[in-house]
Amino acid sequence: MTSRNEELFQRAQRHIPAGVNSPVRAFRAVGGTPPFCERASGAHLWDADGKRYIDYLGSWGPMLAGHTHPAVVEAVQAAAARALSFGAPTEAEVEMAELLCRLVPSLEMVRLVSSGTEATMTALRLARGHTGRSVVVKFEGCYHGHADALLVKAGSGALTFGNPSSAGVPAETAAHTLVLDYNDAAGARALFAQRGAEIAGVIVEPVAGNMNLVLPVPGFLEALRELCTRHGAVLILDEVMTGFRVALGGAQARFGIRPDLTTLGKVIGGGLPVAAVGGRREIMQKIAPLGPVYQAGTLSGNPVAVAAGLATLKLVDTPGFQERVEATTRSLVEGLAAEAKGAGVTFSAQSIGSMFGVYFRATPPKSFAEVMQCDRERFSRFFHEMLARGVYLAPSAYEAGFVSAAHGAREVEETLAAAREAFRRV
Ligand SMILES: *Cc1c(COP(=O)(O)O)cnc(C)c1O
Repeated sequence: MTSRNEELFQRAQRHIPAGVNSPVRAFRAVGGTPPFCERASGAHLWDADGKRYIDYLGSWGPMLAGHTHPAVVEAVQAAAARALSFGAPTEAEVEMAELLCRLVPSLEMVRLVSSGTEATMTALRLARGHTGRSVVVKFEGCYHGHADALLVKAGSGALTFGNPSSAGVPAETAAHTLVLDYNDAAGARALFAQRGAEIAGVIVEPVAGNMNLVLPVPGFLEALRELCTRHGAVLILDEVMTGFRVALGGAQARFGIRPDLTTLGKVIGGGLPVAAVGGRREIMQKIAPLGPVYQAGTLSGNPVAVAAGLATLKLVDTPGFQERVEATTRSLVEGLAAEAKGAGVTFSAQSIGSMFGVYFRATPPKSFAEVMQCDRERFSRFFHEMLARGVYLAPSAYEAGFVSAAHGAREVEETLAAAREAFRRV
């Protein structure tokens, strides 16, 4: 009996490369057929065969409030009934900018865009325009979207498919991107000592979530802040994933680091395409039409998308929200570690805010090299055992997991029951 998922996957591959519109969705890293999704509610999603899953993918991060939250759906429906797009300013964009600047400590001005890729691309251009320098520094295994200059030793899908540096990026472009090891403050100091005067900016995921989950070691982010200040470079915290997940004010609030520029995405659209670049007024005033750094977007600040984002952020900004979802996430990873131990499987797990990492390795990795030591084969088997039991994890050993406010003790319990059986079969 072929399933509808199978049928759709076959049909999809005839006219869509690999049948998907973003590479990791194709399940190449873990094998098998990706479920084609039909609907979702709260902590669950349903596929084309009517099978229900507890969802820890959360659309790769945005669904912090849970799927189809009534307040978000209502806001979207109301906005859509008024207009789908104007290409002219709206009050909702002002409200969104005010809210973002209130919640995220370092933001003085923001510009809305439609994807994280656009946000980081614009942040780099601003850093270069502001400093008049060309070189940017990134860290191996960090993913900042698929703009040319940032697709060098990148994480996420690029890493999953073994081509972290993409074909089609001119060597001249990649030459302006210098890559260091994540959590290597000494390496950053040495680089700045040598080439500090050429460096326009440093871009970093304050918690790395695109090479599985890697936490910053104490002193790492502080060192980057200090080096950028001393050498006149722009510190960009890419909080597209960590924003509103690591803390209400992002990782910068949790770790007390004040970047010059911040990129946001994922949660701020609540499932629709909204992202943002923001930061110091002095730098943001360099963007067109106030300044010489060009940036534009036909659908930027789209009223329906902004309505979804605003409604989501209002939920996220209610007392106790972060504490609850953080506690749920912690109980999940503690439970998973206990189940693995019970089954005698070498495994570790950790969480921060509503993000988590699972590792087939004795301790959580602190570097890209340590991430590479995780047992990928074992992860793939675990992934499929869990999927078969109705638990949808990200289909790659190099992705973080996401918990939503709709996940509770019941979902965690069901997940752990599935894990108990899965660990005994991997
Ligand atoms: C997802 C992500 C991006 C890219 O965002 P898109 O909306 O997929 O373009 C950039 N940076 C980080 C840290 C991300 O997690």
